[in-house]
Amino acid sequence: MKITMLGTAAIGYPLTFCNCDNCKEARIKRGKSIRKRASVLINDDLLIDLGPDTQTAMTMYDKDMGRVKYLLQTHIHTDHYDEGLLCARIPYMAMYNHPKLEIYAHPNCLKIMSDRVNQYENADIISEEGSKKLKVHSNIINAGDVVEFGNYKVKAIETTHDIKNGALLYVINQDNKNIFYATDTPALTENALAQLKGIRLDLVIMDHTFGNIDYSFSHLNEKLFIEQINILKAIGCVDNNTKVYGTHISHDGMSYHEKVEQRAISNGYHIAYDGLEIDL
Ligand SMILES: [Zn+2]
Ligand SMILES: [Zn+2]
Ligand SMILES: [Zn+2]
Repeated sequence: MKITMLGTAAIGYPLTFCNCDNCKEARIKRGKSIRKRASVLINDDLLIDLGPDTQTAMTMYDKDMGRVKYLLQTHIHTDHYDEGLLCARIPYMAMYNHPKLEIYAHPNCLKIMSDRVNQYENADIISEEGSKKLKVHSNIINAGDVVEFGNYKVKAIETTHDIKNGALLYVINQDNKNIFYATDTPALTENALAQLKGIRLDLVIMDHTFGNIDYSFSHLNEKLFIEQINILKAIGCVDNNTKVYGTHISHDGMSYHEKVEQRAISNGYHIAYDGLEIDL
């Protein structure tokens, strides 16, 4: 499997309108310290999160949006979902030869995704008529469910990040390799750990929104990130050969890339950056 990190920021890094020291420093250092909003491409056909920077990132990294066949949506927050990109599939935009997009999301999330499309276009992603117009097919997935499409097998994992609107983490399996894409999330729940048990992970890409700042009700900071990895080690999901990356980086306690990467290495993992490609 080939994994391309299309975006590695929470909301954006440097943060829009912000003049804190970290944002100011990122604007000077640029390079890996400039981060687009979180989104990931697996191979060339599976996208995790259709976000506001996805189209830009795909173009920047020479990826072909016209080859994307599957979308796993983690949740509905505006740094992860941009309905405008689905609206662009409406027939009057005159798209050609594009494959049908199979969308997988929590039922509450799917409903909001659909309503937001419907705000702007006379179409949606749930009804037969609306989906046909946009050439999409929506699939409900709940925590603990396993779905298969193409030659992928995906398991949805529970998170309490946004209980009301529905949020999910995903384990993606292909050719006996497993990726755990775990953002956005606070500490993993007992249910999540039970759903993960028995899966040996080759790659973990997990929420590392904060450095030494505590917003533990909805995200992980450095301390909680390390705790989750240790728990995953204790239940046999992570071992010394598992590649571990932090993503969804915010300006709150997370400095420019080279500095946070150095610190992460001293703790036994890495911080992802935009454009990073990982081969499994
Ligand atoms: Zn987010
Ligand atoms: Zn800032
Ligand atoms: Zn979120």
